Amino acid sequence: MFQIDQIRTTFPLINQGSQQSPPLAYLDNAATTQKPLEVIQRIQAYYENENANIHRGIYDLARQATDDYEAARQKAKNLLNAAKTEEIIFTRGTTESINLVAQSFLDAQLKAGDEVVITAMEHHSNLVPWQMLCKKRGASLKIIPVNDAGEVILEEYRQMLNDKTRMVALVHISNSLGTINPIVEMTQLAKQKGIPVLIDGAQSVSHMEIDVQALDCDFFAFSGHKMYAPTGIGVLYGKAAHLNAMEPYQYGGEMIRTVGYEESTFNTLPHKFEAGTPNIAGAIGLGAAIDFIQKIGLPHIHQHLDDLLQYATEKLGNIQGLRLIGTAQQKTSIVSFLLDDVHPHDMGTILNESGVAIRAGHHCTMPLMRRFGIPGTARASFAVYNTKAEIDQLAEALKKVQAIF
Ligand code: PLP
Repeated sequence: MFQIDQIRTTFPLINQGSQQSPPLAYLDNAATTQKPLEVIQRIQAYYENENANIHRGIYDLARQATDDYEAARQKAKNLLNAAKTEEIIFTRGTTESINLVAQSFLDAQLKAGDEVVITAMEHHSNLVPWQMLCKKRGASLKIIPVNDAGEVILEEYRQMLNDKTRMVALVHISNSLGTINPIVEMTQLAKQKGIPVLIDGAQSVSHMEIDVQALDCDFFAFSGHKMYAPTGIGVLYGKAAHLNAMEPYQYGGEMIRTVGYEESTFNTLPHKFEAGTPNIAGAIGLGAAIDFIQKIGLPHIHQHLDDLLQYATEKLGNIQGLRLIGTAQQKTSIVSFLLDDVHPHDMGTILNESGVAIRAGHHCTMPLMRRFGIPGTARASFAVYNTKAEIDQLAEALKKVQAIF
């Protein structure tokens, strides 16, 4: 059963915020989510009772910390339905995961004249790493255009794939528009031509079930902090065959097998890609967040977020002068909008006075904003603890904005 009151009380910040005047309506979840007690307490318990460095200790405490860290990897493996645990690499987040693939996977293969394909709605983290690599190698970055609703134009994508395409990197859910991209079909189209595919799952992993084996993607990246886990931890899933063939991303302790003054050899997966002491507490916190999500059930979460999206779309759609940016048929939990000619930053400031926390700006998708001919949007994004009452609070606050302007 999906019990919203119970869920809200499990998030201390949401719980306290609801007792303020005006109550806090936290609607900036695409930026980062709040953390439930399960996650906070798990991290505290780790530091109080289990803290030790991992993988090298021969005493009980170090073994315990190692087991906890590796148990979190197992949970991430199950979350994505990866074939092997060693295909899960802990990183700092989506950004680092994508940079790792760009530098350790693609750099070694990319030549002048090659092409890398991304969508027009990528977050800068799934754009700039490929752009820099293309510049370095004399390759070109191809952009799949979007229509006015904010959906990728599949026909253009189909025509873009050719024997020069070395990589396709796709955002699963757009953080600016809420569009859910047809990644099953898009991945298949690339795979039919033998082109590797990376999926940016920063916004999707806490919303819907992911099966990397069924998808047959080569890489999948996500961040813990957008799925109720701490900041500074994330995951790169990669097919073992790729990861084994790739050069290490960083060098140092943990990732080596033998070291001499002239030569070193490297550790097996996943350690080859985890140089130095990792974010042990973060990984354990991520494991607790995965447990939290799975306890509620992703289908229930998805349903709740869809209900909120539908409600918000209707409610905000009824405000005269409000223009929704991103009206894809397949969409979830993110509403981007403009109101009359009020600058989104001004809107954000006034909404804040009514207790409503939204994001205003380009949402790290500057080229997409340019595509729509706008400087940015105001964006409300929902998580498991949000309610229709909070959307009402947003709608009321928007009326105040209109009254002021
Ligand atoms: N990709 C998307 C779609 C995002 O929404 C974000 C963050 O907003 C990122 C990538 C980057 O995530 P992080 O900053 O956690 O590395």
